[in-house]
Order: sequence, then structure tokens, then C-alpha cells
Amino acid sequence: MSTELTIPAELLPADGRFGSGPSRVRDAQIQAIVDAQPTVLGTSHRQAPVRGVVGDVRRMLAELYELPDGYEVLLGNGGSTSFWDAAAFSLVERKAQHCTFGEFGAKFAEVTRSAPHLDDPDVVNAPAGQIATPRLSDGVDVYAWPHNETSTGAMAPVQRLAGSEGALTVIDGTSAAGGLALDVTQTDVYYFAPQKSFGSDGGIWFALVSPAAIERIERIAASGRYIPASLDLKTAVDNSRKDQTYNTPAVAPLVMMRNQLEWMLSNGGMDFTTARTAESAQRIYTWADAVSAAEAFVTVPSQRSQVVATVDLTPPVDASSLVSTLRAHGVVDIDPYRKLGRNQIRVGMFPAVDPDDVTALTRCLDWLLERTLT
Ligand SMILES: *Cc1c(COP(=O)(O)O)cnc(C)c1O
Repeated sequence: MSTELTIPAELLPADGRFGSGPSRVRDAQIQAIVDAQPTVLGTSHRQAPVRGVVGDVRRMLAELYELPDGYEVLLGNGGSTSFWDAAAFSLVERKAQHCTFGEFGAKFAEVTRSAPHLDDPDVVNAPAGQIATPRLSDGVDVYAWPHNETSTGAMAPVQRLAGSEGALTVIDGTSAAGGLALDVTQTDVYYFAPQKSFGSDGGIWFALVSPAAIERIERIAASGRYIPASLDLKTAVDNSRKDQTYNTPAVAPLVMMRNQLEWMLSNGGMDFTTARTAESAQRIYTWADAVSAAEAFVTVPSQRSQVVATVDLTPPVDASSLVSTLRAHGVVDIDPYRKLGRNQIRVGMFPAVDPDDVTALTRCLDWLLERTLT
């Protein structure tokens, strides 16, 4: 298909950003940065103005998730990838079990596998497009899986494994948080980063942690294990309780995150955000079901992600030329996850995405498919 095609302007979405992270940023989040000048930006992260932003973000996350008594909101620098390293030092006592069904779950498994102080993990693997679920195993003290596997568009239930008492349930909520419903009591650690549903920039991690997780963090810290200071979750607990981070945080993304949380909460919290992602998901999967050249990659409907949709295209439709034509029109980042290597599009549908823009995207796709197939 030629990239010279010109999609009629009236078909285009109002906002063409459909990335799975970084993702669409709302204008009000940028205005919030402007408004933070000069009272917050450029001032010390040890003083009240910046600590106030951190405190607001922690308080609003607790409100969004209706955190039970004793649960706390932690944060630190480095994003979810750094959190995996921190977890290998501060959460896993000896052995983790990882359910892997895509790149992100597998990356965390590789972290604990290569950690010299830990036993090799137990890995429950499922092929891309399906999900793997935990199974009881002797000696496992952390059960870990992603709530939403961003690389494949599969979402998994978050429920404690019966009989796993004493072990921690540690869930990667990076792309799920803010957009998928969660009963936080089913987890000990639910960690994420701000560049997906929260429409902010990467580089920070947040974690909702249970009293059992705090107790584990404190016990390991007291055990004498070598832990690099920037990855020590005990240090993160101590700093987070003071609305601070161990080292200097990027302040503007915190301001953007606060604005997004205000937007979510003032519209009804998780009921609002999950209704919006459900609506977007319904529109794209209904489209994929109806179009003969398109097929949802995840075959089990209940596992089709509400925040990241993956849709396979059948030859002669070439996803990459479709993606580049759309890019030329400002409709961007619907490329499939690189390593999956499929003839696919992947569409981020985080809460900031207007479901009407998803519908507009499907209309653009229809328009392009018509010109590819005839
Ligand atoms: C994006 C993503 C990550 C990586 O997040 P970073 O902040 O870039 O480290 C990890 N897990 C999942 C499920 C993700 O979607």
C-alpha cells in the first residue's frame, strides 16, 4: 500500500496518540506544570512545596485504590524496571515464582534468575496471547505476575493463590494501574510507573504495599544481605513516609501525575476510568470481530486487555505499511511490540483516550483496508 494515501481529515481522531506507554498526555497536565512555576519547579525536594506534591500523589493513590488499613504508597526513582531490581533485593527471600506470558513478566523472571543471592525461580510460562496462572510450589516466597502484559495485550486475574499464605503476591500493574479494576487486598505489592494510565513521564515507580510486604522488607533489611542503597526498599519506606525519595526525583512528572489523579478522582475514580477503558475496548474488539482481515490476537475474550488491544491483520494487509500511513497522518504508536514480530497493531486505550477516538481509529483502518484489499 502506498504511503501517499490521504485519509480524509474528518475520519481522523481528535488526538492521534495511541501508544502503550509513553501515552497520551492531557493538556491540563501540561498547564499544571506551567502553574507549578515558580512555586514548585526549581525548588528543593526536601521542602514543603515538592513534598506537598508527593504527599498529594500518595494520598490520591490511596483514595483511588481505597487502600485498606496498614497498606502504604511507596515511591522511588527508576521506573518499574528498577523496581524489579529492588524487589530481587528487598522482597524475595529465597525464591520467586513468575508467571510469564510476554516480555515484561519474563524480564522480571530474568532478574531473579540472575541474582546470585536467590535460588533459581520457578517459571510458569504460557505462549504470547495466552496467560499463565500461579501454582503452589514449595519454597516459593514471592508469587509474581503482570496484571496486564503490555507486550501481548493479555490481562490476567489478580487473586491470591489459595494456600500461598506466608508468601507475598507481587503484581506488575505498570500498564494496568488506573485503567483496570483491582481488589488491592488480593496483593501484597502492586507496582507501576506513571507513563501509562497516568499520562505522565517515566522514571518513577510507585508501589501499593501491604503490612506483610513492609514486614518482609524490614526483615530482609535487618538480615545483613547486601542491598545497593538506591534499590533498598527499606530506604524507600522511610523516605516515602516523609513524602520524599532517597535521591532527587523528576518533579514535573509528579506534577503531571497529581493532575491526572485529580482528573480521575473528580470524575468518579476507578469506576470512571474502568468504564472508559471498557468502552474503548468494546469498540476495538467489536471492530476486529466484524472485519474479515482483522482478528483479536488474544483468543479468550475475558483475557483481552481493556487497556492495550492487539489485533492481528491477515495478508495481504501489511500492518507496518498501515502503521506508517497512519503515522504520516498523526495517528501514532500503534506498532506491535517489536519482539513479537507479528502482522499486528497494538492500541493503547488508557483512560485519557476518548472512546470516540478509538472509533475514529477504526474508521481510518476501514478506509485504509478498503484501499488495500480492492
Ligand atoms: C511499561 C512496562 C514496564 C516497564 O516500565 P518502565 O517504567 O519503563 O521500567 C514493566 N511492566 C509492564 C507490564 C509495562 O507495561
